[in-house]
Amino acid sequence: MDVYEGKAKKVIPLDEEKVILEFKDDATAFNGEKKAQFRGKGWLNAQISAHLFKILEEKGVKTHFIGIAGDNKLIAERLRMYPLEVVVRNVVAGSLKKRLLLAEGTELPEPIVELYYKDDFLGDPMINQYHAKILGIGEDELREMERTALKVNEILREYFREKGIILVDFKLEFGKNARGEIVLGDEISPDTCRFWDAETMESLDKDVFRFDKGDLISAYERLYERLTGEAPARR
Ligand code: UDP
Repeated sequence: MDVYEGKAKKVIPLDEEKVILEFKDDATAFNGEKKAQFRGKGWLNAQISAHLFKILEEKGVKTHFIGIAGDNKLIAERLRMYPLEVVVRNVVAGSLKKRLLLAEGTELPEPIVELYYKDDFLGDPMINQYHAKILGIGEDELREMERTALKVNEILREYFREKGIILVDFKLEFGKNARGEIVLGDEISPDTCRFWDAETMESLDKDVFRFDKGDLISAYERLYERLTGEAPARR
């Protein structure tokens, strides 16, 4: 396996079973149309992802997280990734506003799970279980990913609620390990989730960059501090 470089991360093979995930300071939005760099974002996303993966592991969710390997790097289990983005939503925001013409901030009566086909050329179109089957993803595999995504939502929604943060929506990616198990991969960070301060309704996530709502690093640092109770390291 060669080094794979994505928009916000590098995946560097370590051995047959492990990879290093290197979180970059680059930020992109709107399918790569908007780009910038934020010093310290890689570190914050690596640490926040590690923190959230640990919480999920403690609650019995299988994740690829093995450990922290340095400032902006994690060690993770090597997975064969499904070309899918599994999105879970609790509150209306982002693309759902236009899809159903709902007002931002409307709480959904129950969580929505959406599937997107990960393909930059096609612009990650939304798909359903029939399309997934054509892409070679079995019904049982898909059901397991959806079930895990909802479990992740229950765990993290409650965790964030206790910290005074609303988990609005988030995106997960799954892969298969060498033993054929379906494992939660990729990252869980303010780049891939929407977090709102429950009191002020301020965004503590990438919407700060998407919609020029302020300073991205200070929003991510505030999130880090709320989660870990520690001031983020200066860099
Ligand atoms: N998301 C992501 N990567 C993507 C698309 C979406 O991490 O390629 C996340 C996004 O940060 C948000 C959730 O998935 O937390 C739902 O995104 P939405 O469909 O609203 O799309 P957006 O408006 O963010 O493009």
